[in-house]
Amino acid sequence: MYWADELAARVSGPQVVNDSKTPSGTIHVGSLRGPVILDVIARALRAANVPTTLLYGIDDLDPMDAQALLTPDAVERSMGVPLAHVSDPAADGHPSYARHFAQAFIDTFAGLGIHPDRYYWMSEVYASGEMDRYMRAALDRAAVVRDIYERVANVRHPAEWHPLAVICESCGRIGTTIVTGWDGERVTYECRPDLVRWATGCGNSGRIAPFGGRAKLPFNVDWAAKWSLFGVTIEPCGKDLATAGGARDRADAVARQVFEREPPLRVDYEFLNIGGRKMSTSRGHGAAAHEIADVVPPEQLRLLFLRSRPNHAIEFDPYGTDAIPRLFDESDRLAAAAAGREVKGELPADAGRLFADVLVDSDADPATEAAAYRPPFAHLALLLQIPGVDVRAKVEAEKGALLTEREAALLEERIGAARRWLEAYAPERSRLAVQRGALPPAVAELDPAQRAALSALADALATTQWDGEALQAAIFDAARSTGLAPGRGFAALYAAFLGQASGPRAGWLLASLDRDFVVERLRAAAAPDTLAP
Ligand SMILES: [Zn+2]
Ligand SMILES: [Zn+2]
Repeated sequence: MYWADELAARVSGPQVVNDSKTPSGTIHVGSLRGPVILDVIARALRAANVPTTLLYGIDDLDPMDAQALLTPDAVERSMGVPLAHVSDPAADGHPSYARHFAQAFIDTFAGLGIHPDRYYWMSEVYASGEMDRYMRAALDRAAVVRDIYERVANVRHPAEWHPLAVICESCGRIGTTIVTGWDGERVTYECRPDLVRWATGCGNSGRIAPFGGRAKLPFNVDWAAKWSLFGVTIEPCGKDLATAGGARDRADAVARQVFEREPPLRVDYEFLNIGGRKMSTSRGHGAAAHEIADVVPPEQLRLLFLRSRPNHAIEFDPYGTDAIPRLFDESDRLAAAAAGREVKGELPADAGRLFADVLVDSDADPATEAAAYRPPFAHLALLLQIPGVDVRAKVEAEKGALLTEREAALLEERIGAARRWLEAYAPERSRLAVQRGALPPAVAELDPAQRAALSALADALATTQWDGEALQAAIFDAARSTGLAPGRGFAALYAAFLGQASGPRAGWLLASLDRDFVVERLRAAAAPDTLAP
């Protein structure tokens, strides 16, 4: 059974599904795994007629801390300051650093078909006073919280430590303060120069009522408080927080013992690794969520996250590789399988169910979507590099019929993706320059058997249907008829048209060129006396 359906079958009554993100800086593409999982859970619940609310939060009262140092964006003088209180580094109209980075991230959600019922910003939630009762509860039970940290995580806080961080009235930092006393209305706090390594407190101390946005619960306690405040019943959890004794275990214990509530069901998920490395935002050059979403269309991006179960790591290395074209091919195989067509190559488990989940529109009819013609990505990338080609006409010739409105939209989307892939990600070998003028010098290296094959191909092309499939078959036949290994036949073609030893799928390469030019070139390359000395 599909994992999200399994989960939906385990619960009863209305469900609140939640996830949140600290906007420490540029948010990389791996961080989309949580929201995509969140969306798929909500879809599965709703399909099972479970009333479901989807929440997404931004932890913007968190300090600029060591996490921010892993991004290229941290601001030294603001270390320890709440992210919501740091100014927008780009000065492009956002009210804060947190808003600047969080907005670019959550702006990708709608395009991916992820539609939370509510976005909440913790700076606003704290300011509204909604967290006050949980701060009181945590302060009243400070000893319980200290005990949980020690027992669950082996973190020992001094007996004076209270689970709250005040925003220093003098320097505005929240990451550098410790609360050392609580009288039921006001807390005593100190802003210590040496409390943390990544920020320096100003030495101020004070006594204030910490409510209405003047303080914030520590990460684990804040997490558990949100579950109570919003009535969260299901929450996915990234691997970094899901370790034994880690943040989630602590939050679970706080939920039970401080807020007297069972923690939500958890769905742990693994990282997305780029090129075998754990993808951190520090490597954010071109791997920011909004940048990848610009190249990889929503259906394929959802597939990237969903083709493995949540507890499996995902390897994705789009730079200088065919990872993006392969993602399209996999997506096309999935559509073909969903449409009941024969599929070459391996299919993921639950292919039909998975296909419905990669669709952006949860109300779309998978059968209709699956039936739409999808031009192969690599073929498009090729066509786009040949001057003067009418791409739509070529694609309609491949399909053997005019494109429907939906198919034309898919084509446009893929053309845009292919152009951006060629600009920024494609390996050199995918870049193509057809040598239209003189015969490429590489032709001089061809042996008689290769020339014979080119000649046989030229003869056959007079009657060959002009599409990739048919031309690919004609190339094989021409090689076979002259006793040439197919690989050497293809090499001869690449030499004749590209002046190099390898290239993209030859049938589609020829299909993208016009017949007269192809036949003329084949005959020229086949005849040794036309060779330049
Ligand atoms: Zn901005
Ligand atoms: Zn201070």
